[in-house]
Amino acid sequence: MKTIQSFTVDHTKLLPGLYVSRVDGDATTFDLRCRRPNGGDYLDNLTMHSLEHLFATFVRNGPHAERILYFGPMGCQTGFYLIVRGLDPETVKKEVFRVLQEILRYDGPMPGGSERECGNYRNLDVAAAKTECRRYLNELMKRKIDFQYEV
Ligand SMILES: [Zn+2]
Repeated sequence: MKTIQSFTVDHTKLLPGLYVSRVDGDATTFDLRCRRPNGGDYLDNLTMHSLEHLFATFVRNGPHAERILYFGPMGCQTGFYLIVRGLDPETVKKEVFRVLQEILRYDGPMPGGSERECGNYRNLDVAAAKTECRRYLNELMKRKIDFQYEV
């Protein structure tokens, strides 16, 4: 079998950041890499799940709602995938910052946080998502974002 594209990136060198990992026609996959791969410090399920609910809700209610194809966690627990259609990286970067800041200001109930709306609704916590947002924003502000993984 062929090695898929995401496995060709050298994960021993990856730092937290915002990267473009795939371009398929007009669909671009952004990796929101919150944690350093193989760093021994991973997103726990409560944090991933909570941030997934909040980020997906805000980005799908934002100015580019109809261009958002997908948002969800990476199985390796180091970040999230955001797949968009027809948006350039600088616009996506602005939108990611906007959404993270909106989550930090948010003080309401968890969107989609009921038994009817979610497959594991007890495993959600707005505060856990906010803690991760703050941490990820700090990582993003530490270094220049050029969207490129070093291969
Ligand atoms: Zn859920």
